[in-house]
Amino acid sequence: MTLSTQSDEITGEDVVTRQGWGADPDGDPSGNGPIEGSPGIAIHYTGSIWPVPILHRNCDEYVRGIQEGHLSGDYDDIAYNYLVCRHGYIYIGRGYQYESAANGTDFGNATYYAICGLTGVLDGPVLIPGTTPPLVSAVRRVIAHLETLGAIASDIVGHGDIPGNDTLCPGNLRPYVEDGSFQPESTTAETVLTPDAHIRAAQAAEPPDWPGVEFTNPPPTEHASVQVWQEQMVTRGWRLDVDGVYGNRSQIACRLFQAEKALDVDGIVGEQTWNAAWTEPVTEPVDWTWPGLYFRYETAGLHPDISRSYPSVTTHTSVSVWQSQMAYRGWDVGSVDGVYGTQSQAVCLAFQEEKGLTADGIVGPETWAASWDAPVD
Ligand SMILES: [Zn+2]
Ligand SMILES: [Zn+2]
Repeated sequence: MTLSTQSDEITGEDVVTRQGWGADPDGDPSGNGPIEGSPGIAIHYTGSIWPVPILHRNCDEYVRGIQEGHLSGDYDDIAYNYLVCRHGYIYIGRGYQYESAANGTDFGNATYYAICGLTGVLDGPVLIPGTTPPLVSAVRRVIAHLETLGAIASDIVGHGDIPGNDTLCPGNLRPYVEDGSFQPESTTAETVLTPDAHIRAAQAAEPPDWPGVEFTNPPPTEHASVQVWQEQMVTRGWRLDVDGVYGNRSQIACRLFQAEKALDVDGIVGEQTWNAAWTEPVTEPVDWTWPGLYFRYETAGLHPDISRSYPSVTTHTSVSVWQSQMAYRGWDVGSVDGVYGTQSQAVCLAFQEEKGLTADGIVGPETWAASWDAPVD
């Protein structure tokens, strides 16, 4: 393979250039030198100890954070050649011209491009569904493009398959490496997801006039307009009772909705929150069944692949759900911000001790369930 010019880089509406994501100019993608020969492809992932953004608008910042972590970890630049988010966007890292620094060994870096899927996965046994069809499809598009530049697109391995590496990486992308989903000719992820009917309905609606009544709790506001708002929230995918009573579940949904939409998180449906329930785009609904994610606050990294530079605090929408519930139970969780920090951990420990649960400071399925089911002392 001859070293081509930058004009051969992958382009498209779904491609985020270094400038596009705001790469730190101190990063030098050529730090490990040009990649030569006919490289294969090594697949990587990121784990939940640095959880991935729910919303794509936060993905640029997330990628900048990875670069920052790598720069402060003595790398010349973000280590990967490409990164792909779960919304299907392709981020240019070191690009196609240069060796990666992510493949663990000099041999690995010289022999494989590194593509990292920003999947979100637990470091323990339970996976959260961070892998999406758009992500898989985007990885495949990168590989198809690299093939046109001389890469051996059929030589796709996981990070941990490269000799000399001891890592679980690529985690929940492992099955896709093995079943051929990343092969350019694969059609595994071709299905384009169309929004659910409820999302289309919710987004088609116009906001009715604000009724002039603020919904608060406790005591729960009871008003005909509460039911109108509840119906709209259910249409948006939230699970709450449509009963005209602004109770605890309605308020939790309100807080989470406010947090997601960057409104004031006060748990009160006023004019702004009312209007937003019709005008804001529908994203992912939040559930309060156990999310399949353990909430941890760790002072040391857990994942051998990425522990060097990644914070180990669980950050996830579902953390907000739990924080809201604990606040409702009377615990001082600080802010309902979706970040499982020291305060959340302290509340968890005290709650576990109070309820006779294993006091490990980790919110798993038992502690999660007790947060709803155990009586409030
Ligand atoms: Zn890796
Ligand atoms: Zn994204």
